[in-house]
Amino acid sequence: MSRKTTIIKNAFMNFQRSVFRSIPFSIELGLHKPVTVVIDITRRCNMQCRFCDIWKGKQDRDPSLSEIDLMINKLEAWLGDFQLSFLGGEPFLRRDISDILKISAEKGITTTFTTNGTMITRELADQLVSSGVYGINFSLDSISAEKHDALRGMKGTYDKVMKAIDYLRESKLAHSSQLQIGIASIICKDNIDDIPLLVDWAIENKLDNIWIAPINGNFDSSFNEDWYEDNELWIGPEDMSRLDDLIQRLKKIKKSNKIIINTINQMQAMKTYFSLKKFPFKKCLAGNSMIGIRVNGDMVLCPFMGPVGNLLSDDPKKIWMGDRAEIIRQEISDCKKTCGIAFCFYDKTFIEKVARFKAIIDSST
Ligand code: SF4
Ligand code: SF4
Repeated sequence: MSRKTTIIKNAFMNFQRSVFRSIPFSIELGLHKPVTVVIDITRRCNMQCRFCDIWKGKQDRDPSLSEIDLMINKLEAWLGDFQLSFLGGEPFLRRDISDILKISAEKGITTTFTTNGTMITRELADQLVSSGVYGINFSLDSISAEKHDALRGMKGTYDKVMKAIDYLRESKLAHSSQLQIGIASIICKDNIDDIPLLVDWAIENKLDNIWIAPINGNFDSSFNEDWYEDNELWIGPEDMSRLDDLIQRLKKIKKSNKIIINTINQMQAMKTYFSLKKFPFKKCLAGNSMIGIRVNGDMVLCPFMGPVGNLLSDDPKKIWMGDRAEIIRQEISDCKKTCGIAFCFYDKTFIEKVARFKAIIDSST
């Protein structure tokens, strides 16, 4: 299947499932199903980012290759088409990463990876490009090596991620590939002024997309409700005019360039989030079109709430339609935590959906 056909098919799947989910009893009728599944293939990480606790936690066992294969087979049997995202920890710490690539490539599933970029060699970049992986997202918070390294807790990280991006861009060019190379950035007190420069850099270097997320408590499974109190990276009242400037600049860039994935409403919501320290949207759509799978196979609807079942031992459709999932859905719909992850589950307006659809189609031609 050509890349353009895949993109159109995925866009249609997204649209169809978003219509189905608004129909009463759509879950019970089997109409409402996830679009994206995020699988943690390791909890190990070689970074010590200041806004993440994963590296501090206990190192759970990675799922084996056959367990990953089993989980993907079960998901495919239930969902048919879906988008697969591999996450960590750092996914490229796995020695069998080439075999994992083969599993998703052979099944023709639209697959993306998110990485800190420190493990990608030229050889791996070539493998990624020729595997047919849809996209790679690099964590990059500044184009200042000093700032990026300070936020990621390790010297030399910036140089490594820049090298990895170069390897992929060169390989992409050499193979006339349409691999999507993107950046995921966390906004916090220390890099407010750097974000526009980062976006300019991404545009100049012809990257495909950039996603900007506000700092969250941590990426571990617990959620301290008051995490932002005394957090040294939280954007406080003294930084509000700089945040305002940033939002205005991002909105301006967005009008002339489609590289920024965030919608204008999402950017605006960052102001509410930081200035009022409160949940920035009408409701959180966690677990609506995206589900997460932990390294032990546990399925989660919200990354901070308990599992609704285990994909290795249970049937995913039964988990999705089960009582536990129903209870968690209720908790999610009542949730008003000051949570940066809620930005990932933001429901676009109809106009925003059309604009995003158009941007995706344009990028495929
Ligand atoms: S944010 Fe990502 S790269 Fe940083 S420590 Fe956490 S898992 Fe590792
Ligand atoms: S806001 Fe959403 S993602 Fe965050 S804890 Fe609540 S339900 Fe989960």
